[in-house]
Amino acid sequence: MRTGVFGGTFDPPHIAHLILADECRHQLRLERVLWVLTQTPPHKLGQEISPLDQRLALLQAALDGESAFVLSRADIDRPAPHYAVDTLRILRAEYPGDTLVYLMGGDSLRDLPSWHAPRQFAAACDEIGVMRRPGAQVELDEVTRQIPELLEKLRWVDTPLIGISASEVRRRIREGAPYRHYLPPAVAGLIASRGWYLD
Ligand code: ATP
Repeated sequence: MRTGVFGGTFDPPHIAHLILADECRHQLRLERVLWVLTQTPPHKLGQEISPLDQRLALLQAALDGESAFVLSRADIDRPAPHYAVDTLRILRAEYPGDTLVYLMGGDSLRDLPSWHAPRQFAAACDEIGVMRRPGAQVELDEVTRQIPELLEKLRWVDTPLIGISASEVRRRIREGAPYRHYLPPAVAGLIASRGWYLD
């Protein structure tokens, strides 16, 4: 099976996540996409991240009824640090024989050299699908010089540029700006009913 691996904090999951993951599913011929909710992402240490229970409830709401999208607990049911290279090892054991295609935005590809063991990470992926992101210029020569394993693995996904981020959605909620249509309806409804992200 061709399986996508989409890691994130999903704080909250927004429509860009869904649009882009679905486009990757289609263009990269993935039979399913595992949404790996990261507890404490090593590259976001020091940033305020909402409690795991809250993000889990929101991600479940976002993926409800999406048969090709599967919530993965690979980074939930283990202690920190949650390095992506270890996530892949866990998923390999859980889905033996699958072709694992790691999905990431251009910002994540740009930052990849600063991830833990980036060369081992790239070697552990069968393919890496990259979604364009506004403002994320990737110096590809530089990134592939540092991580030569990427050269054979990168797959560019032709996605629309969508200027939506979870931090922008959080800011909108905090400041009373419109945010509802940036989110799947079930996610927006849950946030409104619980009063999340107001402070
Ligand atoms: P934050 O604003 O809190 O940093 P985020 O919107 O980037 O959050 P994450 O959960 O960190 O959301 O993202 C998970 C993955 O989705 C990352 O690989 C990120 O690059 C990608 N991604 C998120 N939003 C977009 C977007 N608008 N365009 C392209 N890629 C995106």
